Amino acid sequence: MALGACADSLASLKGILANWHIDQSMNTPNIIRPARRAEIPTLAELIQRQLPDMMASEAAVDSIGARLGDLIDDSALLLATIENRLAGMILLDIDQQRIIACFLDPKVASSETPKSLFATAESLLSQFGARWIECSSKPQVQRFMESLGYQHQESPNTTSLLMRKALVSPDDKQSESLFETLADLGIPENYGTTRRLKRIPEARLLVPIGRDIFDRDQKLTPAAATAWNQLQNAAAQQGITLQLVSAFRSIAYQASLIRRKLENGQDIDKVLRVSAAPGFSEHHGGQAVDLTAPGLKPLDESFAESKAYAWLKSNAGIYGFKETFPVNNRHGINWEPWHWRFHNRAAR
Ligand SMILES: [Zn+2]
Repeated sequence: MALGACADSLASLKGILANWHIDQSMNTPNIIRPARRAEIPTLAELIQRQLPDMMASEAAVDSIGARLGDLIDDSALLLATIENRLAGMILLDIDQQRIIACFLDPKVASSETPKSLFATAESLLSQFGARWIECSSKPQVQRFMESLGYQHQESPNTTSLLMRKALVSPDDKQSESLFETLADLGIPENYGTTRRLKRIPEARLLVPIGRDIFDRDQKLTPAAATAWNQLQNAAAQQGITLQLVSAFRSIAYQASLIRRKLENGQDIDKVLRVSAAPGFSEHHGGQAVDLTAPGLKPLDESFAESKAYAWLKSNAGIYGFKETFPVNNRHGINWEPWHWRFHNRAAR
């Protein structure tokens, strides 16, 4: 990029930042969506040629272009469009909990563009249980970043500012109590972000679905219960008996389950390969079931060789159930052929 063009871009970026508060009349809605793989070449070229960056990333623009592809799988490359024109984009490093870059097109972006991009990136990280987010910003955008709730952190680098924002409000007692439980069990703070496991709130409305193989009452959300009932009946009609091992589990129950394993001498890394951390288990949402069939050892990989598993592979999808933890999954959880989760029609 020529020096002149660069200076121009920065001047226009500065212009946008300065005018945000008086530019309310031009508030056309920004649509934020994850970028698609096919868009990478165009986006990389745009970044290199014309879009000014609000961040003061150490990474060269070229290497940012090369990284775009890695971000797609995580939906961590977000685009803002206004009336089908690209207004800006934000690049999020989920592992480092850091905004890598935020580009704006001064000709298209509105005052809402960077706000919406930051808000979407922050909410993506929050879903993984992140407690803060960081970025290195250019000094001229410090005030704007502060208006979004970022605070300047002491750092040895004088050309850029390290800004950090807390993602959990001190009033959020539920999160606070969960974080205490996780710390107590020795589960690292970045558990959800590094494993790409989302926080799952406890279901509020549950209905009974009968007893499991241990004769305990089990529950699911009404929609999941109906779907489970249909799934079980359809299997029975074809001579397959599906049995419940577990359905809804509370956060406290999940914590007690893990605590028991630790007390039996297992180490936490090993435990977390078979059990999700409290607050991150799909069983909290009342939509997941652990299944077995008569004569099989419950919660054992051998379930994958059963007729019941083969039937589920072909038919569970019809009733909205999906296998969540296949072989070599991204979440660091061992293969769980017995674990199936109902997905609402809208989410499918
Ligand atoms: Zn399960």
